[in-house]
Amino acid sequence: MSRPLVAALMLVAASYTDAVAQTRALVGATVIDGTGAPAIDQGVIVVDGTRLMCVGTATECPVPPGAERTDLTGRFVTPGMVDAHVHFSQTGWLDGRPDGLAAPDLYPYRETALALRARPERWFRSYLCTGITAVYDVGGHPWTTALPARAERDVAAPHVRAAGPLVTHAAVPALNVDDEIYTFLPMATSDDVRASVRRLVAMGASAVKVWYLAPPPARRQALDARLMEVGAAARDAKLDLIVHATSLREAKLALRAGAKLLVHSVQDTLVDEEFLALLAANDAIYAPTLVVAGNWSRAIASVILNAPYPIDDPNGCVDSNTVAKVAATEALRAHLPERLRSSEVAYQRLERSGAARWVMAENLRRVHGAGRTVAAATDAGNPLTLHGPSIHQELEAMQAAGLSTSDIIVMATRNGALAMGRLDDFGTLEAGKLADLLVLTEDPRADVRAFRSLTYVMRAGRLHAQRDLAY
Ligand SMILES: [Zn+2]
Repeated sequence: MSRPLVAALMLVAASYTDAVAQTRALVGATVIDGTGAPAIDQGVIVVDGTRLMCVGTATECPVPPGAERTDLTGRFVTPGMVDAHVHFSQTGWLDGRPDGLAAPDLYPYRETALALRARPERWFRSYLCTGITAVYDVGGHPWTTALPARAERDVAAPHVRAAGPLVTHAAVPALNVDDEIYTFLPMATSDDVRASVRRLVAMGASAVKVWYLAPPPARRQALDARLMEVGAAARDAKLDLIVHATSLREAKLALRAGAKLLVHSVQDTLVDEEFLALLAANDAIYAPTLVVAGNWSRAIASVILNAPYPIDDPNGCVDSNTVAKVAATEALRAHLPERLRSSEVAYQRLERSGAARWVMAENLRRVHGAGRTVAAATDAGNPLTLHGPSIHQELEAMQAAGLSTSDIIVMATRNGALAMGRLDDFGTLEAGKLADLLVLTEDPRADVRAFRSLTYVMRAGRLHAQRDLAY
């Protein structure tokens, strides 16, 4: 056969395969659509190319002739999960946070940072493997602002939104390496504020994130004024304001400055009516991270005590390089500063994070109980808050805090998409949206641990068997 003819036949075959794969029907599963509505028994989901064509009962959604049919009887389908707080420029271990525990001989930070920039697809895979089809990077090195465009085109990557470097008064020199690798932009003066927001716009950041630690009393008035200016500059630039504010006074100020997304939790005290009213006035989203602080403490303690922490990775979504680093506590132990050498310190840290956790859980109940919007979020990339599987820890902590499974499912799907400004595209299973969904063998309405029983992940119409995504 002549070469052109073979090529022509292959082309026909390829377009035929595409045509067959274009319409797909998932039939028989219990469909939980992420809107909070009751599940559909024996549901039918028709996917046309990358989008959902119909989601409903067999009568509402007849299977089009020629559609590829996948029988999911006895399974459970949900939207893809959304993690509303991750960091692509952090590793999930202590090497990515030299401000917490520096070991420059063992883990030179610039090299760590460049390796992260070279291979963000490592985390893409961890996320998809876990069933997370969208993530919000709420703070990172400048290169992270290029990830949204790149990931959107890639059916093997979650959707990404990225805020870029953090605007802060509390920059940590160890995390600002040079003109390419830096984490912080200044807000000491009004000129700083304007220049920092201009830089974020220029690098294509999709939000302005402020890292607002409680200022020392002497600088409080000046810095509070700067925070209000950042809010105004973000509004002018049409970028959402995200604020890290873990103390009630600062969190209220952040809302007055226009924050749309509050990351972490208020953890110094219990939230009050004024805070809840400010959240409502901004229509702001509260994205608690219940497990990250405890994970930090466990990471440091595992090194002090030289007892590697067992990774909770039910579906093999953590790469071997990360697994090896977490296990290498012996090597890191030799680099511990004097203040971190006694086991007493390790136990104190563990105790402290346990206490803060109670305050965070109570505040989550109050915010949710008052009808405010909560999105599930992990702070993945921090030590032992691993890209991907840490979502299980977070959802299970929300469940342990007393939230209902059906509310948590909405927080882990729809509300994350809302936080990313992408609810028109994904977050719920409704006709017209992208076909991003999960197939589980267990019922997440009974227990959110069911998200561990993931068998398939669909991203923009492409169906991946979970085992094919495992490391
Ligand atoms: Zn964070």
